[in-house]
Amino acid sequence: MWLGVISLLPEMFDAVSNDGVFGRALASGRLTLNRYNPRDFTKDKHRTVDDRPYGGGPGMVMMVEPLRQALAAAKADAPADTKVVLMSPQGKRFDQGLALTEAANPGLILICGRYEGIDERFVSQYVDAEWSVGDYVLSGGELPAMTVMDAISRHLPGTLGNQQSVIDESHLDGTLDYPHYTRPEIVGTQSVPQELMSGDHNRTRRYRRSLALQRTMERRPDLLTGRLFDPLDRQLLTACAQQLGPHTVEKEREKK
Ligand code: SAM
Repeated sequence: MWLGVISLLPEMFDAVSNDGVFGRALASGRLTLNRYNPRDFTKDKHRTVDDRPYGGGPGMVMMVEPLRQALAAAKADAPADTKVVLMSPQGKRFDQGLALTEAANPGLILICGRYEGIDERFVSQYVDAEWSVGDYVLSGGELPAMTVMDAISRHLPGTLGNQQSVIDESHLDGTLDYPHYTRPEIVGTQSVPQELMSGDHNRTRRYRRSLALQRTMERRPDLLTGRLFDPLDRQLLTACAQQLGPHTVEKEREKK
């Protein structure tokens, strides 16, 4: 997959480029990360990329022209019809479903804002979508862009050592992941659950699914609302609800 980022701080992406799953995807060539700095497309001595907002108010606004030229350079390198996405706290909430869908595309260009944001005319003329990583404001779009790229890269074939990892993960099927254990068998007073030691794959699978559903019911009951479940899940959910007590879902909602 071809990834392009437009950023005033392209060196920030070094932080994710050499290590971990994302770094390995780059090293293997399954992913390429291409950086474009709007400052490189300025013509004045100070390499100006921002100016004061019309109408007054605090902060600075990123100007159209350096962004437009950086985007043109990115598009010239990108696969045809690559989507242009602005990272923005006002955008659609980025989630696992979007990560999965985008991983099927050959390319993606992410634009990272800074300061108060970018001139709205650039957004309306050149941006296909706006994505947010959550309802809070960060100082720039670089961390959101890295978050999005990492989440997408996990869905590229061959990126994870074991492709089952991505299938089991939280949010992929609308539930949270089950808890994990590794050696040693006993930590303090706690042992690894017997269900995971039995060697019976069906028992293990059923136990994990039951805990995944229980966790979701306890922590994120909103994820279960309006979903259809197969007969086994329905049976496990009923058992979870009985175990947790009739008011658990309401109590969890109140905590939010
Ligand atoms: N004035 C803007 C507002 O209130 O909507 C916030 C600007 S923010 C300080 C600077 C840049 O950080 C934004 O243009 C965007 O690219 C990025 N950013 C901040 N929070 C974000 C979030 N939750 N998700 C995605 N991008 C974000």
